[in-house]
Amino acid sequence: MATLEIRDLHVSVEAENGPREILKGVDLVVKQGETHAIMGPNGSGKSTLAYSLAGHPKYTITSGAVLLDGEDVLAMTVDERARAGVFLAMQYPVEVPGVSVSNFLRTSATAIRGEAPKLRTWVKEVKEAMAGLQMDPAFAERNVNEGFSGGEKKRHEILQMELLKPKIAILDETDSGLDVDALRVVSEGVNRVRETGEVGTLLITHYTRILRYIKPDFVHVFAGGKIVASGGPELADQLEENGYEQYVKGGA
Ligand code: ADP
Ligand code: MG
Ligand code: MG
Repeated sequence: MATLEIRDLHVSVEAENGPREILKGVDLVVKQGETHAIMGPNGSGKSTLAYSLAGHPKYTITSGAVLLDGEDVLAMTVDERARAGVFLAMQYPVEVPGVSVSNFLRTSATAIRGEAPKLRTWVKEVKEAMAGLQMDPAFAERNVNEGFSGGEKKRHEILQMELLKPKIAILDETDSGLDVDALRVVSEGVNRVRETGEVGTLLITHYTRILRYIKPDFVHVFAGGKIVASGGPELADQLEENGYEQYVKGGA
């Protein structure tokens, strides 16, 4: 069983007036098969955590460690992290001009599996995953995220998750901008992958809404660049009722 360990992670970004520390000592252990909800106010550093785990060059790790089964994730390139089984569904997915969804998925799967998937089974796999996410097959020929609606972008992220079968999936505000029907479809996709028991999920969200569809095993409150409280699902209910106010007295 794969385990992701985040130990006292400090991360800075280069701001106009010099480096600014955004993550201030994040500690978290996520095991394959578990779902952890990370909930926090806007600006608390949730996306910074997601990007730092995926290896975005804009974020500088100033101290701490991230280990996947004891392997130093921070020493890996972005590609190596993906091959090791770390997957990030971005809050704001980026366009990849000139690359179709179909080619993108196949290239990603080839890179991650170490060999090109067999065409016939692959086509079937993609078709089934798309049908499950209620995506029109014609979607596969569109360029990645070019002109996609908010809902299409999020479906495409979860389509990748279903096909790439990561060990650790980081879903950054996958619920944002979705209407109730799209939220249900996307959540069902996430749950299909979870039910395999082979993914550890880090579900980053501002709102408790998605937790009606995706039941977390653990809930963590994220404020001021670190986890300030951890508990079970009851913690989300408490947040729904009282908001983040008690956690952000010193600012988000
Ligand atoms: P969240 O996802 O919780 O809303 P973010 O990680 O996006 O929070 O941002 C946390 C803080 O870091 C915010 O104050 C944001 O303005 C700042 N920040 C994030 N990225 C950068 C950057 N590249 N340059 C300057 N500040 C940044
Ligand atoms: Mg934000
Ligand atoms: Mg964010």
